[in-house]
Amino acid sequence: MLKNQVLNNIQVDNQLFMKPEYLNHPFISGNKYRKLKYNIKAAISQKKTTLLTFGGAYSNHIAATAYAGKMHNLKTIGIIRGEELESKINANPTLMFAKQFGMQLHFISRTAYRNKQDSQYIERLITKYGDFYLLPEGGTNALAVKGCEEILNDRDDKFDFICCSVGTGGTISGLINASQPHQKIFGFPALKGDFLQQDIRKFAAQDNWKLITDYHFGGYGKINEELIAFINTFKAKYNIPLDPIYTGKMMYGIFDLIEKGIFPKNSKILAIHTGGLQGIEGINLKLKQKGLPLIK
Ligand SMILES: *Cc1c(COP(=O)(O)O)cnc(C)c1O
Repeated sequence: MLKNQVLNNIQVDNQLFMKPEYLNHPFISGNKYRKLKYNIKAAISQKKTTLLTFGGAYSNHIAATAYAGKMHNLKTIGIIRGEELESKINANPTLMFAKQFGMQLHFISRTAYRNKQDSQYIERLITKYGDFYLLPEGGTNALAVKGCEEILNDRDDKFDFICCSVGTGGTISGLINASQPHQKIFGFPALKGDFLQQDIRKFAAQDNWKLITDYHFGGYGKINEELIAFINTFKAKYNIPLDPIYTGKMMYGIFDLIEKGIFPKNSKILAIHTGGLQGIEGINLKLKQKGLPLIK
């Protein structure tokens, strides 16, 4: 069973520290480990034998769910966005990984994928695949937030700012709930959109947070040469790998805010490294096709 991991922070410079959640499991990395922990427990106690979830081509959540299902003897079904991917599984390391760990993959169009929260659509999935434990896209629900509350521990109370990348808002909600009122939580969305504020308010029990919306680089999965250069320089300098979808954009943002003097001089910042490194291989294949530099 997944344990409550307590990881020591890595010091980056005088004021910046990193919590290396990417090291909490070799295959179920980062925040996805936290998000799955209580959901797997619930699935087992509800005597479910199958987990069903949703994700895109490079989804960390799909990879983590496939592996966690295998570990706990649960079947897994992944509903994948994009019919065109079906004939290209072999060229996609994330989907290959999921398949290798027994996940049944079903590819649907982007239009059909928009129904993923629709109860009639879920009913049809039950008719088609039988009973399952439903994990939403990105794995965010109340139990996922509860798991993410375990990212922080007492020793983290000394930080003034806690930063994390935001996709669906589950991770930041857990951090907000586990933080002290004097701490400020900054979320860096990896995508465009105003819906995140509301999604976070559904789970967050305090108001000590803010979304910094200037560092999505054009939207979800959008990557440019400046970001790639930043990630490669960061790794060369600190020996910490970053992914281009989430943690790379967040760290770029934090460095930029530090340079602009947004954080008070003696304040201490904790950045949560939420993982996502499994996606780099697949993204590099795409970058290569486009003639862009690769992530090292
Ligand atoms: C999924 C993910 C996030 C976003 O987490 P949410 O809880 O969806 O906001 C951030 N970083 C990485 C590496 C992720 O895989």
